Amino acid sequence: MSLIDVRVPQLGDFKNVPIVEVLVKVGQVVAVDEALLTLETDKATMDVPSPVAGVIQELVVVAGQKINENDLILRLASEAAATPDRPAPSPAMASGSGGASGGVAPVASPAPTAGAPTINEVPADQTFPLVVLGAGPGGYTAAFRAADLGLKVGLIERWPTLGGVCLNVGCIPSKALLHAAKIIDEADSLSQFGVKFQAPEIDLDKLRGWKDSVIAKLTQGLKGLARQRKVEVISGEARFLSPHRLEVTTAAGKTIVGFEQCIIAAGSEPVSLPGYPADPRIMNSTGALALADAPKRLLVVGGGIIGLEMASVYSALGSEVTVVELGPGIMPGCDRDLVKPLEKRLKQHLKAIHVGTKVISVVAKPEAIDVVFEGTINETQSFDRVLVAVGRTPNGERINAHAAGVNVNPRGFVPVDRQQRTNVPHIFAIGDIVGQPMLAHKATHEGKVAAEVAAGLKRFFDAKVIPSVAYTDPEIAWVGLTETEAKAQGVAYEKGAFPWAASGRSLALNRDEGMTKVLFDPTTHRILGAGIVGPNAGDLIAEAALAIEMGADAHDLGLTIHPHPTLSETIAFAAEAFEGTLTDLYIPKKK
Ligand SMILES: Cc1cc2nc3c(=O)[nH]c(=O)nc-3n(C[C@H](O)[C@H](O)[C@H](O)COP(=O)(O)OP(=O)(O)OC[C@H]3O[C@@H](n4cnc5c(N)ncnc54)[C@H](O)[C@@H]3O)c2cc1C
Repeated sequence: MSLIDVRVPQLGDFKNVPIVEVLVKVGQVVAVDEALLTLETDKATMDVPSPVAGVIQELVVVAGQKINENDLILRLASEAAATPDRPAPSPAMASGSGGASGGVAPVASPAPTAGAPTINEVPADQTFPLVVLGAGPGGYTAAFRAADLGLKVGLIERWPTLGGVCLNVGCIPSKALLHAAKIIDEADSLSQFGVKFQAPEIDLDKLRGWKDSVIAKLTQGLKGLARQRKVEVISGEARFLSPHRLEVTTAAGKTIVGFEQCIIAAGSEPVSLPGYPADPRIMNSTGALALADAPKRLLVVGGGIIGLEMASVYSALGSEVTVVELGPGIMPGCDRDLVKPLEKRLKQHLKAIHVGTKVISVVAKPEAIDVVFEGTINETQSFDRVLVAVGRTPNGERINAHAAGVNVNPRGFVPVDRQQRTNVPHIFAIGDIVGQPMLAHKATHEGKVAAEVAAGLKRFFDAKVIPSVAYTDPEIAWVGLTETEAKAQGVAYEKGAFPWAASGRSLALNRDEGMTKVLFDPTTHRILGAGIVGPNAGDLIAEAALAIEMGADAHDLGLTIHPHPTLSETIAFAAEAFEGTLTDLYIPKKK
C-alpha cells in the first residue's frame, strides 16, 4: 500500500477553474476513474476522475475553491504502483468514446422509489416517477428540466456517452470540421489581397482528435450535469414491456425499469438505401464524421443540408467531391434565390453537382466503387468512398412501443399532441421521433414542454416558428414562411430584400454574395418569414425568429438600432427596403 498524491490534470488553457462539487470524502474507497471533483469552466462542466483505486486519506480542496493544473487534490492509499505527484487523467479524456473510463453510471441497486405505481405486472428492479428513454438533446433536456422541477428521473441511454446524435455524431462534430474547412478556404482566399499562406498540411489524426475532444468536453459536461441533478443514468438499450415497464439490456444483463410517466426521446437513424453493397467505403453521416481518411474521389448521394455540409468538409480537406441529387435542385425546401450563391460557390470548389440524377447501381470493386448515374448524366463513374446522406428515419419501430399501447405511424413517427403526450396519457414523446423538422433545437424545446407537463405544469409547445440552418459556406438560414410556401399556398406577402453587395461589413469580409430578405403581411406589415444567405446567416436568423414570436412589424425591425458595421444591419435594411425608408441603396419608388 502506498500513499499517492492526486493532482489536477491538464486543463488546456483554463486557469483558476472553480470546483463546483467535491464528490468524495476522507475514508471513502474510490475505484479507478471514479469522479473526485466536478469543475466548471465557462465552456463546460467536467469531472476529474481518480487515476487509481484506493482509500482517501487526506482531502486538500473544498467546493468553491479555484484550482489550476497540477495543484494537489487529495492523497489516497493505493495498492497501485506509487508514481510521485501523479495527476488524475485529463477530464476530457476521461469521457472517451466508450472506453473503461467513459460511459454512464452502472445500473443502480433495485430500491423501489417511493410513490411507485402499484401495477400488477412483472416486478421492476427500479421504479421512477419519470423515465426518459434516450439521452439526445431532447432526452437530456427533458431529464434535467424534470429533475429541476423536483422529479426523481431515470435516463436510459444505449450509447456510452450522453448527448445523442447531436453531440456525438451530428451537429457538434460536423460544425467542428466545418470550422476547419472554413479556415482553410479563407486562408486560401486571402492570397488575392496579398496575404499568402502556404498550402495547408493536414494531419487528419490531429484534426480527428480535436473534433473528438470537443465532443468529449460536451458529453463529459452532460455527465456532470446529470450527477449534479441526481438524474440516474442507466446504460443500456430499452424496449417497452407494458404501459409502465421497460426492459433494459445492460452490459450486466437485463433489468426491468418501472415508471409512472415516461418521455420517449429515442431519436432517429440515417436512412440506408436498398441495393448498396455492404462495404466500409460506403458510409453514412456517422462514418463520414469518423474521418477515416480524405478519399481522393468522394461521391455524396443527397444534396440536402447534411450532404452539402460534409461535401464542404471533405472538399476543403482535399477530396475531389461529386454530389448527386435526385430532386431538381440542391437544398430542397429552401427558396432558390437563397440557394443560388451557395450553389455558385460549391461549383467552384466541388468537382460536380448533378441534380435531377438518380444512382441506379453501385458496385464495390477492390480498386473503386463504380456508380451508374441516370438523369442529367448517364454514365458510370468510379469513387474511393460514397457518402449516403438521404435523410433520417425515426426510431419509433425500434422500441416495442405497441407493448405500452403507444401508437407509431407507418413512417415510424410517434404522434403527439401539443403537450407532447402520445395517445397513452402518461407517456410523452419528443424530438426526431415525433416528426419534422428533425433539429436539435426543436427537440430541446419539446423536451422542456414534456418535462414541465409531466411535473404538473400547464405548458404547450406553442412556438410559432422553428429556424432552419445549413452551416455550409455561405450559410443559409430561414425561418417562418418561405416564398416558395407562400406561392404554393397562395398566401399574400410583400418582401423587403437587401443585397449584401451594399453592406460595408460584408465587403470587408470579401463576401458580397449574401442576401437578406424578409417577408411581410401586406396589411399589418408584420413579419411572416425571413431568409438569409451569407456568412453567419445561422446566427443572424435568430433576430427574425424573435421578431416573428413577438409579432413585430417592419417598423420594429427598421427602427431598432443595429450596430454598424455588422451583418445584422442587413435585417433592418431589408425592413427599410420594404417600408421605402432605406438610404443605403436607391430603390425607385413603387408607382
Ligand atoms: C451529421 C448531422 C448533423 C446535424 N446537424 C444539426 C445541426 O447543425 N443543427 C440541428 O439542429 N440539428 C442537426 N442535426 C440533427 C440533430 O442531431 C437531431 O435533430 C437531434 O439530435 C435530435 O435529438 P433527439 O433528442 O430527438 O434524438 P437523438 O439525438 O437521435 O438521440 C436519441 C438518443 O436515444 C438513444 N436511444 C435510441 N433508442 C434507444 C433505446 N432503445 N434504448 C436506449 N437508448 C436509445 C440514442 O442512442 C440516442 O442517444 C444533425 C444530424 C446529423 C446526423
